[in-house]
Amino acid sequence: MTRWSIPFTRVHLTGREIEYLREAVESRQLAGDGSFTRRCQRWLEQATGCHRALLTPSGTAALEIAAIVAGIEPGDEVILPSFTFPSTANAFVLRGATPVFVDIDAHTFNIDPGAVAAAVTPRTRAIVPVHYAGTLCDMDAIDAIARDAGAVVIEDAAQALLSVRDSKPAGSFGALAALSFHQTKNITAGEGGAILINDSSLVARAEIVREKGTDRSRFFRGEVDKYTWVDIGSSYLPGELIAAFLLAQLEDAAKITAAREAVWARYHQLLAPLEEEGVLVRPRELSQGANAHIYSILLPSFADRMHVIEELKRHGIGAVFHYVPLHSSPAGRKYGRTSGSLRVTDDVSERLLRLPIWSGMSDEDVDLVTQSLGTALRAARGQGVARLLPQM
Ligand SMILES: *Cc1c(COP(=O)(O)O)cnc(C)c1O
Repeated sequence: MTRWSIPFTRVHLTGREIEYLREAVESRQLAGDGSFTRRCQRWLEQATGCHRALLTPSGTAALEIAAIVAGIEPGDEVILPSFTFPSTANAFVLRGATPVFVDIDAHTFNIDPGAVAAAVTPRTRAIVPVHYAGTLCDMDAIDAIARDAGAVVIEDAAQALLSVRDSKPAGSFGALAALSFHQTKNITAGEGGAILINDSSLVARAEIVREKGTDRSRFFRGEVDKYTWVDIGSSYLPGELIAAFLLAQLEDAAKITAAREAVWARYHQLLAPLEEEGVLVRPRELSQGANAHIYSILLPSFADRMHVIEELKRHGIGAVFHYVPLHSSPAGRKYGRTSGSLRVTDDVSERLLRLPIWSGMSDEDVDLVTQSLGTALRAARGQGVARLLPQM
C-alpha cells in the first residue's frame, strides 16, 4: 500500500465532534430526528436559504427521495450530465425513468445548457444540473429551459455546500436539491446527506417518503393522533450520532471552506507558469463563488495523465482522475441514452486530474505538489509523450 505523504483528501476535525457525540450518547436518543438532526437542518436552512432541509443517510438517498417526490414515473426522461457520479442517474432509474446523458461545458465541466435544450422531448420530466467541483451551473439558462419544458429542476449539489452564484447559494435554485456529507466532501459525517426543498408543496410528501412511507413526522408534531403507512418510502433517516458529528462540522463550515480556498488560490498562482508553457490548463478562477471542493487541471493527453499519477504516487502524493462517463458505463448503456455529442465529456474524462486539497494542507505541501507535477510533466514531454494542448 502506498504511504501518502500528501493524501488526495483528508477529513478536517473541528475538535467538537467527540463532545457532541458524547452528548448524543448520554442523551440515549440515538434514532433519527432528534435535537442534533434538528440543529443541523436549521443550520442548512439558514446557510442555503432553502425552504426546508431534511437530513438523509447519504447524497444518494437524498436524490432517491427527490426522484419520488418529483413524481418521476416509468417512461419519463431525466436530462443530466454524463460526467457525474452514478447516483445522479441511478435515483431516476430506480423509478423506471430513462436518464438522457448530455455533454458538459469545456471550461466549467458543468452541464451545457445548449445540450439540455436540444435534449428536451415531450417525455422530459426533470433536469438535474450537477454543480461540479462546487462551481454552480448556469441556473438561469437551466431554469428557463425547464419552465418551457414543464420539467422540474433537481440540483445535484452534493459537492456544492456554501457555493454561491450571483449571491444565491447552491441548493436554493431547484425545486429540490441534494447535498452529500460523504468523507470525500468538504463537510463530512463519514456518510450523510440532506435533501433541500424549495417547493413548499413537496415538503409533506418528502417527510413521508423519508419516514418509511409513514406520517410519523406529523405524529411527532402532534398533528395526527396516530401514524400509519400512507405512501411509498424507505428508511431515509440518519441516526443522531451522524447528526452530532455533522453539527460540529457544519458549525466550522465557513472556516473549512476558507482553508480550502487558500489551497486552491495557491495552486492557481503556482501553476500559472505551467499553463503558459502549454503543458496544462488550470480551472477558471473561483469567480462563480465555488467552495474549493476540487482543484482540477487538464493535461495534454491520457498518457500524460497516467505518467503524472504514477510519478506523483512515487513521491507519496495522491492525485486522482475522476468519472468514467456514465454514457459509456455498463449500467449507463443499459438504462440510459445519449443526446447530442458527448465530445467534451469523453475528452475531459481522459485528461482531467484532481490535485490534493484539504483543510490543513500547508503551503509547503502545495509547493511540493506543484514542483513534483512540473517535473513529471516536463519529463513526460521529454519522452515525447505530451503534445501541445488543443485549444478548448
Ligand atoms: C458524492 C456525490 C454523490 C453521492 O453522494 P453520497 O453521499 O456519497 O451518496 C452524488 N452526486 C455527486 C455529484 C457527488 O459528488
